[in-house]
Amino acid sequence: MNGATHLIGSVTVAALLEIHSPVSLLIVAVASLLPDIDRTNSLMGRFVPILPTALEQSFGKRTITHSLIFGLGIWLLLGFHASWQWPFLVGYGSHLLLDLFTGRIALLWPIPFKFGVPLFGIPPVFVESLSLASWGAWMVLEGYQYFQILF
Ligand SMILES: [Zn+2]
Repeated sequence: MNGATHLIGSVTVAALLEIHSPVSLLIVAVASLLPDIDRTNSLMGRFVPILPTALEQSFGKRTITHSLIFGLGIWLLLGFHASWQWPFLVGYGSHLLLDLFTGRIALLWPIPFKFGVPLFGIPPVFVESLSLASWGAWMVLEGYQYFQILF
């Protein structure tokens, strides 16, 4: 998925989980873009010098930055400010979940096996377009109000 889709997906999940503070939403947004720092053409990778190229050449795409151990490491680093850990988990977790449906990720890196949810040969760009269209319809039809009943 691209950066815009990850931002929309993560902020939607954050809203459903009643994460509303600007700082928390910022953490969710950054965490949802962070895994793609391993690509020079990603939304975040375009603005960070050297690191994306180094990660891409050393480990490849969708490897170390898309792993549970990387997420755990960042989550532990955020332990100095515990209220940032939950928004990070939401943003990072939503990224990994969405990427599972549009490709394969090395969730258990350094074990080289990559995980993905096969969608019967449906091209990832179609999945991405359909998810954006669904999100738009959900917003227009005020579907998010059903979640207010649940929470
Ligand atoms: Zn990714």
